[in-house]
Amino acid sequence: MTPLLPEMTEIWQQTLNWQPNPQQQVQFQKLYELILAGNRQFNLTRITDPQEFWEKHLWDSLRGIALQGQFIPSLPENASVIDIGTGAGFPGIPIGIAVPNCKITLMDSTRKKIVFLEKILNELALTNTETLIGRAEEIGQQPQHRKAYDLALIRAVGSASVCAEYTLPLLKQGGLAVIYRGNWTEDETVTLENAVNQLGGIIESIEKFTTPLSESIRHCLYLRKVATTPAKFPRSAGIPTQKPL
Ligand code: SAM
Repeated sequence: MTPLLPEMTEIWQQTLNWQPNPQQQVQFQKLYELILAGNRQFNLTRITDPQEFWEKHLWDSLRGIALQGQFIPSLPENASVIDIGTGAGFPGIPIGIAVPNCKITLMDSTRKKIVFLEKILNELALTNTETLIGRAEEIGQQPQHRKAYDLALIRAVGSASVCAEYTLPLLKQGGLAVIYRGNWTEDETVTLENAVNQLGGIIESIEKFTTPLSESIRHCLYLRKVATTPAKFPRSAGIPTQKPL
């Protein structure tokens, strides 16, 4: 199996002020191999080249939580984190590997993906990470999950307004949502602001960055929950995408 670029250590350091220890390096390599193997059975990702996998899955996942030279400096010890629509485990698994003192829940509506992720977590011996099958619209109304998380992550699941409706109900007051995006425009900020206001949040910041290998532009939107989310949100399954706020 192609080694997953150990020479990337320097780029981790330069771009994120962090580098994986030998155990984390082995876990990243294993994750890559397990996903490539799983791809034969399930359609998990079209990103299989080692450089692309490193940049688009590993680096991008961690870049979203790298703020002021640290991984989410405001996060409490043992923070509870949820990755909504995790798919093949991104961004949640790389974060579970890199930040061992947080507790991650990987959530997806597709049972077969979650069954596969369970196998990956076992093989990686990633004890701080667990899975949850369900739709964000339903999980967000369940008392054991609503207002339960310090950090909610969401990448490639829907428009930013839909992502706001999926993430904010799950956050504790003061919690942070990170929405991973490709391109982003000022007009989109206006629409998102309107949605976020209705959900008890504010747009705290929007970061634009360039990826280190292919030099593509990416954005992360950081939403802070500052008030209670009204009980009607998230609306029932399918409504957030059909009628975005
Ligand atoms: N986040 C991963 C990534 O960036 O590689 C996967 C993105 S994949 C394009 C979207 C995933 O979101 C799919 O696995 C799908 O099953 C899940 N999904 C879509 N809508 C969802 C919802 N309402 N609740 C939970 N999961 C959802």
